[in-house]
Amino acid sequence: MRRVKIVATLGPASQDDKTIEDLARAGADVFRINMSHASHELLRETVSRIRDVEARLKHPLGILVDLQGPKLRIARFAEGAVQLVAGQKFVLDSVDETGTAERVFLPHPEIIESVSVGDRLLLDDGKLQLKATKVGGGAVETEVIYGGRLSDRKGVSLPDTLLPVGALTEKDHADLLEGLKCDADWIALSFVQRPEDIIDVRKIVQGRAGVMAKIEKPQAIDRLEEIIKLCDAFMVARGDLGVELPLETVPGLQKKMIRMARRFGKPVVVATQMLESMITSPVPTRAEVSDVSIAVFEGADAVMLSAESASGEYPVEAVTMMNRVAIAVENDTNYRTIIRAQATEPEATAADAISAATRQVAETLDLAAIVTYTSSGSTGIRAARERPSKPIIALSPNLRTIRRLSVVWGIHCVQTEDAASLEDMVDRACIIAYQEGFARPGDRIAITAGVPLGTPGATNMLRIAFVRQDGAGSS
Ligand code: PGA
Ligand code: MN
Repeated sequence: MRRVKIVATLGPASQDDKTIEDLARAGADVFRINMSHASHELLRETVSRIRDVEARLKHPLGILVDLQGPKLRIARFAEGAVQLVAGQKFVLDSVDETGTAERVFLPHPEIIESVSVGDRLLLDDGKLQLKATKVGGGAVETEVIYGGRLSDRKGVSLPDTLLPVGALTEKDHADLLEGLKCDADWIALSFVQRPEDIIDVRKIVQGRAGVMAKIEKPQAIDRLEEIIKLCDAFMVARGDLGVELPLETVPGLQKKMIRMARRFGKPVVVATQMLESMITSPVPTRAEVSDVSIAVFEGADAVMLSAESASGEYPVEAVTMMNRVAIAVENDTNYRTIIRAQATEPEATAADAISAATRQVAETLDLAAIVTYTSSGSTGIRAARERPSKPIIALSPNLRTIRRLSVVWGIHCVQTEDAASLEDMVDRACIIAYQEGFARPGDRIAITAGVPLGTPGATNMLRIAFVRQDGAGSS
């Protein structure tokens, strides 16, 4: 059983029924739908295909709807593109006319107002760099630092400027509502800058989906702790992060964020360019394999594929490769030592104390599995935070919880009704551990639950039970 989860982005190369099923069989736990490219109709169709596959495979699948966020773009050029030369002057203005080699329309007046002299403007994923030399009058005058070809509608990043925009544009708002209507399990917010961005979205989502913050702006790095505390999960969005911050700082930030995730008990997804060369090649580079390994060794909850699975030539091979790399790392002799070295203290709550005790008991007694009854999913996440060496089976009556936990490290989710009595609780846990192949007759398992049964957030009990010949339990 693999512990780290795999998020696969769907797109033209993979959003058909058969490929979705092949990806799930190859190991994809969560499917990401990127709203930068999907219409509402496509979103609805894709969600319904994923749900069909889920029903066929009888295995919960998570759906992550990724909102585009305030991605800034320049307008068009008269000739489709221009060539900018280092040292020349170039103006971004508010005049709605096609651009030339001297100027271009930037259709975001509020952005033009917030740039200060000295701020950098990065174009086309950082390939071109400008520096503001004069601002005011609805225009930003710049000097070209790194030139190159600049074509229509290319993206603009402003790493030095705090943008006066929330993380939700009008398009994002509409996409968010549609995502909720489709019962998305996770909503990802792009270009989060401040804690308020998360608060605003939480008000709309109201617990109907998990809120995932994409960390890809230096402004978010500055307020990381506050942002992480407010979100339900977050993503190390290395693509834009590597444009907005010096590339060489990204690995250290990734390490820091994975550790913070563990400390705060928030699931973390490591994203972008993990197996990039597999967009056009059936085998990855050694460096890419090493990159995936590092995220797995660190104990990230999930690793993500973007274009590799969305538009590449080898989507299924990419998931298969990620799965193989993950399993190899998790079986490596150094894996447990590294994971244990980063253990953090339990917080002073009953659920945390019990999660820590359960890991200890399960490892000391060499139990077959840890079964946790979790209604909202929070106890499941706390159990995973301990990163036990034994499998975690999360039981919940709530399908939303089950699907949402599909992004969390090490949790195998099964939907089941709330137990009617303590005896039923033990039996049910044993039968499921047995049926799902985690325990054999004679094995013992640890069970955690909240008594009275079925009350959310009340985990207060740890039980050890024997799996009997018929799969039921006795304690
Ligand atoms: P994106 O986000 O693919 O939506 O840009 C991920 C990243 O920036 O790494
Ligand atoms: Mn991004």
